[in-house]
Parts: sequence; C-alpha cells; structure tokens
Amino acid sequence: MTQNFSTDEDLSFLKDNLQEVLESIQNAAVKANRSPDSIRLMAVTKTVKPLYINYMLSNGIGLIGENKVQELLSKVEFFNKPVPEMHIIGHLQSNKVRKIIDTVDMIQSVDSISLAKEISRQAALHEKSMDILLEVNIGSEEAKTGLDIRDINETAFAVSEMEGINLKGLMCVPPISDSESETRGYFEKTRRLYDELSSALKGKCEFSVLSMGMSGDYVHAIAEGSNLVRVGSALFGARRY
Ligand SMILES: *Cc1c(COP(=O)(O)O)cnc(C)c1O
Repeated sequence: MTQNFSTDEDLSFLKDNLQEVLESIQNAAVKANRSPDSIRLMAVTKTVKPLYINYMLSNGIGLIGENKVQELLSKVEFFNKPVPEMHIIGHLQSNKVRKIIDTVDMIQSVDSISLAKEISRQAALHEKSMDILLEVNIGSEEAKTGLDIRDINETAFAVSEMEGINLKGLMCVPPISDSESETRGYFEKTRRLYDELSSALKGKCEFSVLSMGMSGDYVHAIAEGSNLVRVGSALFGARRY
C-alpha cells in the first residue's frame, strides 16, 4: 500500500517528547512506590496525522486512543502493521457502535446503560466480546459526559450481567483546575470508587483498568493509583483543529 503523505519530515522532536513523558511516568511511579511497569501509556491521537502516529508506534507506543469513530476509521488503514491496540475514549453514540465493534479493543467512554446494551447487541452479532470501562463524571459537571456518581453502582451491576461485555474498570476526566490538591482529590475519589466497585463485583467481573490522567495531570493521577494514562499534547504538541 502506498502512503499518501511525505516521510521526509524531521520527527525527532516526537522521540524527545516520548522520552520526557516516559521519564516523568517513571519518576511519578517511583515516588508513589509503584512499579513503572504497572502503568500503561496511551498515545491520544485525535487530530494527529498517521505519519506522526506511525513514528510513535515504531518507537514503542503500543496503545492509541481516539475520540471519534469517523476519525479513527479514516486513519486506521495508514497505520503500521501490526496495528496497535486501539481504544475509543470519547463520547460514543449508540448508532456508531456497529462501525467500530470489529476495529477497537476497548471502549473507555461507556456512559449509559443504553449504550452498553447496544455494545452487547453488536458484540453478539459479531460473535465477539468487547472490553469496556465506565466513564465517571467525577466532578459532577453539567456540561460533561460520564455517569453521575450516584448511578455508577446500578449501572456497573447491570452492565456486568450483559453478554459480550467485559467490564474492566473506570475512566474519568476531572474538572480543569489549577489546584493540585483539588485535582488529586478527584483522582483519589475515582480510585476509591474503583476499589469499592471492584470488590462489590467480585465474581461477576475482574477489574484491572483505572484510566485517569492526561498531559496536564497524569503525574498526579499516577500518585493516586491510575494504571493507564491518556496523553496527547505532551507527546504530539498542541492540537491544531
Ligand atoms: C484529548 C483527550 C486526552 C488527551 O488530552 P491531552 O491533554 O492532550 O493529553 C485524554 N483523554 C480524553 C478523554 C481526551 O479527550
């Protein structure tokens, strides 16, 4: 397959960015008495062109996240083979589930029982099972997607009963804040919810993924127990829409 983009750009800045992020993950882990290997780095690739993504893939990134179904599908054919593990991390409309059920490895942004039902239905049709996370609106923000904290328990139990769905944990995007203690407070709250649900659901599903932390706050998220950080701009530079 020919690739329709130039390959003579100097992309070494991407390697420097990656090195920096890996080092600060390492430092944050050590500071929290955690093994750096227990924390996965996802490269968030929204608005990023395949040339850049492939560069990261050839430098050791094995997991990418996209917010939009259409954008992911338009880029995936240009990715280096074997294709990396891919997760959807943005709000997903039920009518788009069938388009990505065979492409992605996890849907991190499940925020309603009706969306989970559609994932379950499509998984059955495609004879597979799908890993999911429930997205928690941990700051109870009006304008944000994610489940209300008060609905998490009921939703988790309902989803854990659905065929074709493996509920693996929680994801959150906390409110933007300049205060480290406030941000850490939201991450801590999410981790406690994760621990509580994990024991409440024992035997029904196996929790293993706590997805929290982005470019501006992944160090704090690691301090509070995150084991999957979703990093975009710190790797690729500021997004140009
Ligand atoms: C865009 C996005 C990220 C990455 O954001 P950066 O601040 O660029 O690291 C992580 N998670 C979600 C859900 C996003 O939409």
